[in-house]
Amino acid sequence: MSFAQVLDNLPLKKSPLLRRFEELLAPKSDVALEALGQEAHAVTLKNFGRTMRLFAPLYLSNECINNCSYCGFSRDNPILRVTLTVEQVVAEGRHLAQEGFRHVLLVAGEHPKFVSENYLADCVRALAPEFSSISIEVAPMESEQYAGIVEAGAEGLVVYQETYDREAYAQLHTAGPKRDFNWRLDCAERGYRAGFRRLGIGALFGLRRWQEEALSLAAHVDYLLKHCWQAQITVSLPRLRPAAGEFHPPFSMTERELAQLICALRITFPEVGIVLSTRERAALRDALVPLGITMMSAGSHTEPGGYTGQGTGELHRTVRGRIVAPEFETDEDRSATSQFEISDGRSPAEVAAALREQGIEPVWKDWDTALVSP
Ligand code: SF4
Repeated sequence: MSFAQVLDNLPLKKSPLLRRFEELLAPKSDVALEALGQEAHAVTLKNFGRTMRLFAPLYLSNECINNCSYCGFSRDNPILRVTLTVEQVVAEGRHLAQEGFRHVLLVAGEHPKFVSENYLADCVRALAPEFSSISIEVAPMESEQYAGIVEAGAEGLVVYQETYDREAYAQLHTAGPKRDFNWRLDCAERGYRAGFRRLGIGALFGLRRWQEEALSLAAHVDYLLKHCWQAQITVSLPRLRPAAGEFHPPFSMTERELAQLICALRITFPEVGIVLSTRERAALRDALVPLGITMMSAGSHTEPGGYTGQGTGELHRTVRGRIVAPEFETDEDRSATSQFEISDGRSPAEVAAALREQGIEPVWKDWDTALVSP
């Protein structure tokens, strides 16, 4: 049975595991939530020890042919765009490597002309000497297209469904190939068949009632654990942040609810990685760490060239698919537009120091190695 069938039957048929997960999401008193947090912390210690894998996103391009109502890179937003050359990507990568990172996530909007599988493979190949782990978060592709990227040295694939609600998905994705819900839904499995051994999924919280979204996401995790069992599964829980286009999320998720969801996921799926990005503010990130977070980004920029200013000479706008030279508005920042605003602006070294203060060892490269070392 495909995951699309599982998802469509979810309101009628939930496994005992998902029913237990749903109970963990029900409203809780402060005392009950505290107990949940302690249980989640104990499960995290048992399965991951006192380690935190640090990574940085490296944005390659903010070109996009889709319109996603919540995203600053949407096709119709008149933002400053650029696609970095491979040499510029390497310059950004060197900067991250100098900061200590050995795990990088390559991110790009969906634009087959600028961000082809060959371009991605070239970027991965060029970065491979500096990084022990390279993941990609780009437009969904066929397994055959992914294979060349895996061969070039990428090991991780990240694809968020955004929302698992078909109706909301159709309303939010108004133009472009991303409108195909099922094509995106099957992406992790296509990546697995191509050889990716880290699969990251997630939902964008704020598009639907968080409890319903979380249940669908948990069903997807459960499915992938069974069908892609040789891969390490990670899950991300981004909450919507301000971005170009000024989208207002129809639903909210409080910090308390986010904490409860992290606990519920950790207790239900003890060995699954949970990722926390710089979308969340520093103090909240520090407080969420012990509940089950296993991977954190740090010092992030969400625009191409954000770390070293690469690509500022080639900025343009895209109007109805045509590239036009930018006429800069007064006081406009002359760098590519970011995807969303970050909240935790601490440097990677500051994030690492805050983790150590909690007795957690930041791991810049491969945590599997760190876990087995004496
Ligand atoms: S979410 Fe992704 S596909 Fe949608 S507009 Fe943004 S970059 Fe493009």
